[in-house]
Amino acid sequence: MDYSLHDDPRLPAAWAPWFSHEYLAYFCVRALDRLMALPPVPVRPNPRFGEKIWPIGSKHIDVYKESYQTHRQLDPLWSFDYKKRNGDFALEPPAGKTIEPWKVLVIYSTEPDLYPDYDLVLHRNQKITGGSHGWRHMRFRLLGMTFGIAPRSFSVHRDLARLAFDSNHDYWGWRYLSRGAHYLADLGHPFHVKALPGSFLLKRMRARHELFKIVSAMHQSYEVYTERRFREGFEPFKEALLRGAREGRDAPGDVRDRLPAYIRRAERRHNPIFYYFFDRFGPELLEAFSRMDPDSPLDAATQTNRCSADAARVIFSDAHRDKLDFLDRITVEILADAGRMLGMLFAAFLPKS
Ligand SMILES: [Zn+2]
Repeated sequence: MDYSLHDDPRLPAAWAPWFSHEYLAYFCVRALDRLMALPPVPVRPNPRFGEKIWPIGSKHIDVYKESYQTHRQLDPLWSFDYKKRNGDFALEPPAGKTIEPWKVLVIYSTEPDLYPDYDLVLHRNQKITGGSHGWRHMRFRLLGMTFGIAPRSFSVHRDLARLAFDSNHDYWGWRYLSRGAHYLADLGHPFHVKALPGSFLLKRMRARHELFKIVSAMHQSYEVYTERRFREGFEPFKEALLRGAREGRDAPGDVRDRLPAYIRRAERRHNPIFYYFFDRFGPELLEAFSRMDPDSPLDAATQTNRCSADAARVIFSDAHRDKLDFLDRITVEILADAGRMLGMLFAAFLPKS
């Protein structure tokens, strides 16, 4: 069946609205027939591997979406907060529930953008990535220095997944793998591997507030654009992910060896997208982000979310419709690339046949 995630009858409405990471995971698992056919696994409590090497933010709670109550009907096109879904979920492992591995990979893929990486003291330079969350989800070079540890975030979770499977914690094996796939997808995202064009930085070195606002605005505009396309069921995005994931599934080699080139390709796609939003959508788009403040007690991600609806109104306004073509084409490349990596990662975790 040619579902687009939000219309897949196997997934309860309580889990919606759906977000970009979930669409990514969904089309990648759909490309792997053997993964889709794996029998359900029993839901179990978190074995809590690796908490010493990988501290978890104090606000994080492992929710269990296998047990839900539907309470509302949010409008997907105007939903920007991962925490707000149509249902509420169990805070303790529900007894007697099982779930298919592919669904685990989809529904927990947004978890790393909730609280596990917030409010941590990881590095003295973490403010430049907007806090500890950005530090774990990005990795870029700027002025000869390197900021962020996203490649490590990925490898830690891939190793935790292995450890879980090797010790018969299959449910948590899939959950850790879902988290790992999140960081892997982030590394294919141009705004996670490059902060801003070098020439742009030099020209605007003094205006720190202005720079912070522009960088956040260009990044979030791209998020808003991509998510909206997924929710519209945009065919080229689906096809790119399915094709990429099939290629990754069948390709020889290992995700780790391909990571550096994957990151470099994403890096090269940054400037074109950055300048496209900056030059083509103009002051109107920046205006949507006028409330961004680098000195706010709120972290950058929370602040940008508040500007997303205004940004969506600008980007998808009739006046700008003809400008989406360029973004569509470059995003298809990005998604095919991410699909290859996720397809390769998931295939490596399938039971040997
Ligand atoms: Zn992320």
